[in-house]
Amino acid sequence: MNRIKLLPDDTIRKIAAGEVINRPASVVKELIENSIDAGSQKIIIELKEGGKNLIKIIDDGIGMSRDDVRLSVHEHATSKLNSIDGLESLTTYGFRGEALASISAVSRLKIETNDDDSNTGTSLSAEAGEIKEIKEIARAKGTTISVQTLFYNLPVRRGFLKSDSYELKLITETISAYAIAYPNIHFTLSSDGKELLVLPKADSFKERLKIFLEKNVFLNLQEFRFTNPMLSFWGVISAPETAKTFYQLQQIFFNLRPVRNRTVVKAIYEGYSGTLRGNNPNFVVFLETTPQNLDVNIHPTKNEVKFADERFLYDFVSEAVRKTLGVQKRAEILEETALFQRSLLDMDGAIQGFWQLHSSYIFAQIQTGYCIIDQHAAAERIIFEDIVKKDEKVATQGLLFPIIVELSPEEFSIYEDIKETMSALGIETKVFSGRSVVCETIPSSVTMTKTDIQELFLELSKIDKEKLSYKEEIAKQIACKGAVKANQRLSQPEMEALINKLFACKDPYFCPHGRPTIIKIGRDELDKKFGR
Ligand code: ADP
Ligand code: MG
Repeated sequence: MNRIKLLPDDTIRKIAAGEVINRPASVVKELIENSIDAGSQKIIIELKEGGKNLIKIIDDGIGMSRDDVRLSVHEHATSKLNSIDGLESLTTYGFRGEALASISAVSRLKIETNDDDSNTGTSLSAEAGEIKEIKEIARAKGTTISVQTLFYNLPVRRGFLKSDSYELKLITETISAYAIAYPNIHFTLSSDGKELLVLPKADSFKERLKIFLEKNVFLNLQEFRFTNPMLSFWGVISAPETAKTFYQLQQIFFNLRPVRNRTVVKAIYEGYSGTLRGNNPNFVVFLETTPQNLDVNIHPTKNEVKFADERFLYDFVSEAVRKTLGVQKRAEILEETALFQRSLLDMDGAIQGFWQLHSSYIFAQIQTGYCIIDQHAAAERIIFEDIVKKDEKVATQGLLFPIIVELSPEEFSIYEDIKETMSALGIETKVFSGRSVVCETIPSSVTMTKTDIQELFLELSKIDKEKLSYKEEIAKQIACKGAVKANQRLSQPEMEALINKLFACKDPYFCPHGRPTIIKIGRDELDKKFGR
């Protein structure tokens, strides 16, 4: 018995449409992209009931001729791509020629358009993918597209739409993304007759951000731009101190396309390293590369793209974020250091300069109050920065009595992999016999006993080799084992040297694991506590 039959056209169309259009926000996305591709200066969006009953987009772009508008609702009809080779030099949002066909398959669609200065244009109406009427109308140059009762012929899908306010929220986010990417286009959004967004032409994307971010976050944004032959990366990231549990905006653009990209998000968070303390930052970042390096055709909605070298992307982005935050902090740190050193001079050798509490914390008076330094965390930071220095060789000290440690089978199995990196970080080792390894040098900034070396190997055997910052992970462990411990008495000169070295670090406020090294208590805080 034959069981296979061809699906009716109407069903095929509905299935295909489902890949591109899944809710009102995806209609808005496709229509805005078309308006931008058409060179519009002004885009007006009107909605009814969260876009479920009406989505209307009015633009002043190049418009369409009568023949073009007839073709525009056909599957795979596009003015933007001539052959598959064109995919590699694409500069428009559209290229698949599917959006209008898909929208018309699942709604009642009307297009009113004119492509010249004649003031006479064309109106086309379609329903469930069938053209119902084409007629001449009066219309200035540009295009108006109205999408009525989305999914009226797909009741199950219509039933799955969320509340009007939720659908509206998604639409607003979609519009915001394009408005940020195109600050020179005027956007307005109104919903059920109420004006929700009015975004007049702005000078820069940053100007546009003002209405999307809290004032404090906006004022503390860090701007950056890094370029490389492969990739340009620019935008703004929020200062770590302004990060809260919930972010207001996290937006990534790849060649001006708003996209989701896990690699970039992970790299940005990595760049913030310990400074976020579990909070979420705001960011708007732009990545730009040649179309050949970016596959935009991996997903029907084009929300996701694939960059040619993900590893490079990750490293480039995280380093850029680190540099941006570091550069900004640098100024504060210099100021703080100057203040700190002036306070030290004020102590004039007589008040004891530093005071060690429980042989673990150092108290130091500063002009604005006092600070408490965690001696172990501070020493870890100092050693970490000393040994991960990029191009310089790490200064080492030869051990008069080389330390021999016996490794467990697991430790020994990773030994070959990490030997080179360890040596680059100042710890030179060789196999002595069997699973015994002899350690000949250690970085000159550390003190290490046999127990430290033994524990170091144990910790190193636990590090995930796939970690992108493998070398830094190893350096963190060396810093941890080589740093002065808690419960260790320090002399005045030792405390002073530690603090001076800490302030000479690029990132003195956090240990390599992200824990704070310094806590500051203001004099005003003390005064308040004592009711002064
Ligand atoms: P694509 O954008 O991938 O080409 P669409 O289905 O979105 O496919 O649009 C089909 C064609 O209709 C476009 O290539 C373009 O020529 C035309 N078009 C759509 N919207 C507009 C508009 N707002 N202004 C001018 N032309 C448009
Ligand atoms: Mg399109």
